[in-house]
Amino acid sequence: MLNLVLFGPPGAGKGTQSNLLIDKYNLVHLSTGDILRGEITAGTALGLEAKALMDRGDLVPDEVVIGMISSKLDNNPNANGFIFDGFPRTAAQATALDNLLAEKGTAISAMLSLKVEDAELIRRLLERGKNSGREDDKNEVIIANRINEYNTKTAPLKEYYSAQNKLSEIEGIGSVDEITSKLNEVIDTL
Ligand code: AMP
Repeated sequence: MLNLVLFGPPGAGKGTQSNLLIDKYNLVHLSTGDILRGEITAGTALGLEAKALMDRGDLVPDEVVIGMISSKLDNNPNANGFIFDGFPRTAAQATALDNLLAEKGTAISAMLSLKVEDAELIRRLLERGKNSGREDDKNEVIIANRINEYNTKTAPLKEYYSAQNKLSEIEGIGSVDEITSKLNEVIDTL
């Protein structure tokens, strides 16, 4: 199986690139942000609990997102592989993901980390906020909180995957096609 963690701060282009990679490599896209927004739209109790945190740009609890990923893995027993987008975001999520995959006799193949500077992230997210309908894209204070959550809780996961020799860092500035090509180059060596 090909199991990729597409990593990087909010606004780095993870969603855009995931959508291109799933077609080329025939993978299942698992975005915890998309799944949570689906729960909010469906009006579930989980969605209601998550919404307040998401609107502030805070992370939702580990057990919530780990449970969601676990059931998505169970629901796709014949997948060729997965792209994890926006997950894992904490050390507890990373170890849980390794354990879930090990139970299925597989593992993460690589972490592809997109690097984009903060000023560009803020610019992209505010631009996206004009149309995305996302409360967390509209306000610079909330965007700053999301970037801070990333820097403090999520970015350290690069060390976790680096220790397993699975980390590739890719410059996330350039055209969508240029970045896709750089990702393809790394994936094709796996
Ligand atoms: P995203 O769509 O990845 O930008 O995520 C939007 C929001 O959903 C985040 O700011 C968090 O509040 C929540 N979220 C998404 N994925 C996770 C995760 N793996 N762990 C905790 N919170 C998450």
